[in-house]
Amino acid sequence: MVEVTALTDEVQEKVAKYLDRARREDGDINALIELNPGAEQAAKEVEKKIDSGKGGRLAGYVVAVKSNINVMGLRATCASKTLENYVSPYDATVIQRIKKEDGIILGMTNMDEFACGSSGETSYFGETQNPRAKGRIPGGSSSGSAVAVAAGFCDVALGSDTGGSIRNPASHCGVVGFKPSYGRVSRYGLIDLAMSLEQIGPFANNVRDAALLLEVIAGHDPKEGTTIKDQFQGYTDNLSADLDGWKIGFAREFEEFTEPAIVRVIKRGLDRLSSNGAEVVEIALPNLDKALPTYYLTVFVEFFSATRKYDGRRYGYKIEDVCGREVLRRIMLGRYISQKEYSGRYYKKALQFRSLIKRELLHALEAVDVIAGPTVPKLPHMLGEKIEDPLVMYGYDVLTVPTNLAGIPAGVVNVGRIKGVPVGMQIQGRPLDEQKVLNAMHALEKD
Ligand code: GLN
Repeated sequence: MVEVTALTDEVQEKVAKYLDRARREDGDINALIELNPGAEQAAKEVEKKIDSGKGGRLAGYVVAVKSNINVMGLRATCASKTLENYVSPYDATVIQRIKKEDGIILGMTNMDEFACGSSGETSYFGETQNPRAKGRIPGGSSSGSAVAVAAGFCDVALGSDTGGSIRNPASHCGVVGFKPSYGRVSRYGLIDLAMSLEQIGPFANNVRDAALLLEVIAGHDPKEGTTIKDQFQGYTDNLSADLDGWKIGFAREFEEFTEPAIVRVIKRGLDRLSSNGAEVVEIALPNLDKALPTYYLTVFVEFFSATRKYDGRRYGYKIEDVCGREVLRRIMLGRYISQKEYSGRYYKKALQFRSLIKRELLHALEAVDVIAGPTVPKLPHMLGEKIEDPLVMYGYDVLTVPTNLAGIPAGVVNVGRIKGVPVGMQIQGRPLDEQKVLNAMHALEKD
């Protein structure tokens, strides 16, 4: 006789349900590149642990993973032909931590090729649909991870954010997304787009689940030299929607860059923060317009350098021979800028502007607890409406890249819709103060 507890049934049933739904519905949506053949077995093992009272903090959570993070035995393709057949020989630190807490890996998600993009259209495996705004792009580059949560294929997902790649698709797909402070989460096992800007972070249906996944993956990693040895408290234990006495900054420059209809939705979000006890004050970010060129110059150089290992000897293809147009553009520009570097014309200038933008944001954050504003300045375009001008595509990132240049935490939560299309509010906080960002987000979802 087989005895099965109610809880046991729940975990197994949930994993089976997610796998079944993904198999049935992802053909059209295209959020997933590969399902984990070991998911059901993992569910069984987690189940046993729960039954014996030893389940970890993520016991029963089903997690989808962006295809630029190594999960042993699954493919980390970066949605590219270059790495089409690259099977990860090890687990990234974030994956080790998720497995240790009994999270179950659903599979690997679709993305813009090598995380270069803001729309989810540049994948070698084809574009991803936005299930919450039919016919439109889901945003990118962590398109598949945001969509896997929005489409109900998993509980939570991991993305990476170099200049907005978690926050942009979270906004367009109406889910919660969070980019941690630089150094908060280990990048060991992440195939970076630009190593000085990028962090791994969570997607979820609600702020509590995002906070939970974040606290599991966060913390110092001896294998990764940029992680910070700061003792952080449990984000979920300290989650609170009470903003009494808080000051929230809103920059007048946000309005200059953002479609008026989006500004109106965001202002309603600010009202909600006020009704939770906060005072909204105006701040100035006069150098916001410098962030985009500063960001892209930095990314081109760092990405060019990172791609030199794809010369065909180890992975089969030389990247320049098989990559898409956007990846090629970045490699060519990165090479050009690197060659010109002896004259300090571009990269050095970018570094100087980066310090300026960082100083400006940190200064603004001395007077307020968090900064609240729009995430993306325009609504997601229709799939098929090809954007040929790269500068137009880069325009999606104007409000998200400053966060990465400054290394601060930022999260996104839905605050409304325009003609059915979700709009997310972005909360940015002081370095390593993810708790306040999460609490402001929690206040927004509560009402
Ligand atoms: N859209 C930005 C870019 O194309 C951000 C990408 C990212 O955060 N990975 O570089």
